[in-house]
Amino acid sequence: MTHSIPTLKLLIDGRFVESTTTQWRDVVNPATQQVLARVPFATEAEMHAAVASAREAFKSWRRTPIGARARIFLKYQQLIREHLKELAAILSAEQGKTLADAEGDVLRGLEVVEHAAGIGNLQLGELANNVAAGVDTYTLLQPLGVCAGITPFNFPAMIPLWMFPMAIATGNTFVLKPSEQDPMVTMRLVELALEAGVPPGVLSVIHGGAEAVNLLCDHPDIKAISFVGSTRVGSHVYQRASQAGKRVQCMMGAKNHGIVLPDAHKEQTLANLAGAAFGAAGQRCMALSVAILVGEAREWLPELVAKAGTLKVGAGSEPGTDVGPLISRAALERVGGLIECGVREGARLELDGRNPAVAGYEQGNFFGPSIFSGVTADMSIYREEIFGPVLCVMQAETLDEAIAIVNANPHGNGTALFTRSGAAARHFQEEIDVGQVGINVPIPVPVPIFSFTGSRASKLGDLGPYGKQVVQFYTQTKTVTARWFDESEVGGPVNTTITL
Ligand code: NAD
Repeated sequence: MTHSIPTLKLLIDGRFVESTTTQWRDVVNPATQQVLARVPFATEAEMHAAVASAREAFKSWRRTPIGARARIFLKYQQLIREHLKELAAILSAEQGKTLADAEGDVLRGLEVVEHAAGIGNLQLGELANNVAAGVDTYTLLQPLGVCAGITPFNFPAMIPLWMFPMAIATGNTFVLKPSEQDPMVTMRLVELALEAGVPPGVLSVIHGGAEAVNLLCDHPDIKAISFVGSTRVGSHVYQRASQAGKRVQCMMGAKNHGIVLPDAHKEQTLANLAGAAFGAAGQRCMALSVAILVGEAREWLPELVAKAGTLKVGAGSEPGTDVGPLISRAALERVGGLIECGVREGARLELDGRNPAVAGYEQGNFFGPSIFSGVTADMSIYREEIFGPVLCVMQAETLDEAIAIVNANPHGNGTALFTRSGAAARHFQEEIDVGQVGINVPIPVPVPIFSFTGSRASKLGDLGPYGKQVVQFYTQTKTVTARWFDESEVGGPVNTTITL
């Protein structure tokens, strides 16, 4: 018996349309290899049509009252809440993460939707009264026009929700290019956005890979690009879209270090480290992929290894699973290759997660928690973002030595310090050059009233993807200087100087 495989649609001008392309890719359940759907690589004409409808929709959307925009997002957050289980199930099936983690992915995005509903409070200009006699100056934060978003596979709900709700709530129209590896939950979220009242053309979706991304970077009608993904692709997007005169923000790769001081709460710290290193199979940009054990905390390694060894590898849909599969066969091979490389380069493989047995899911892309000790800064396993359940353990004599290691790493996305010392924590927060800093918080993703950030190779562009900063990103400041005359004041000589 053959089952027909559903196809993902493009969203152009408020309609979900079948692509006419000849280029398709399978969306695959990484625990079973079952093909869940097929995703089109949109044709150039389809991509242009999406941008054209977004441009047309901007003409009226930019004038829509703040309250009317807010009500759409109030409705939208309610719909996402009502469909939480369904969304998490779709996400877990196509991405692999556990159902609980998939719900977290949706819920973190939902918080941004809630924030978008109140964005009028932040999209306020400023006014200075009497900058000259009878003259006031004020600013308007006006939407830019058509903006575009390019998202990665690892948070297919949260990251699209970082982008289009904020762009649309601030009065822009938006073209989204989801990850081609797991676009199904993103499309379900997009359907719910239309149900909530997002009008035709205000949100469009094109599918594809590098060609679609390049078209968005080059398109003269797109004013801003928000990208989340790897440093390699993000750097390309930043350069290409900046050269085309756009605003660009790129949130990129990571190598996040957890520093453990010997005065930390031991049980709590080891549990936090294991959760942050191996949760979501290490496929989080905020995963703690390096642990630096300082001083006597170096002796905690065997317990860390033991704790990691208790984690259950399995399909995300199975109760009790801690570590789901990697996204693809290619990812599995890449992570396996890096393990071999680490061994070759002289690191000690304390826990080998290769080829775990997962009964009933023999075809899955499973990789168990793996731990290297004796890792040094010149090794490939340290230099590269592994993006799998692999923890590199390093050692340091002092906190300052550990801080120096972190600051010398090319990436500066997230980090965490585990300690009971307020003074050490404060010193760390001052000296560390990393965007997201956790103090006894392993994965310190900022809530939406703040903004996601990053240092060095983890971020290009000035402003973060949500929170207050994104209001600046998605708006153009216009400064108005105005004088209103009484009839009695009108007239007088021509003034050729530059006073007001
Ligand atoms: P990726 O860079 O491979 O893909 C991201 C997007 O770029 C996708 O939509 C993809 O279609 C597109 N793309 C891929 N190759 C391209 C090319 N050659 N030219 C133009 N576009 C291309 O990233 P991924 O593997 O989907 O996601 C994992 C990466 O994302 C990791 O590096 C992770 O650290 C990073 N990430 C960063 C953050 C953050 O906030 N800093 C958050 C999540 C993920």
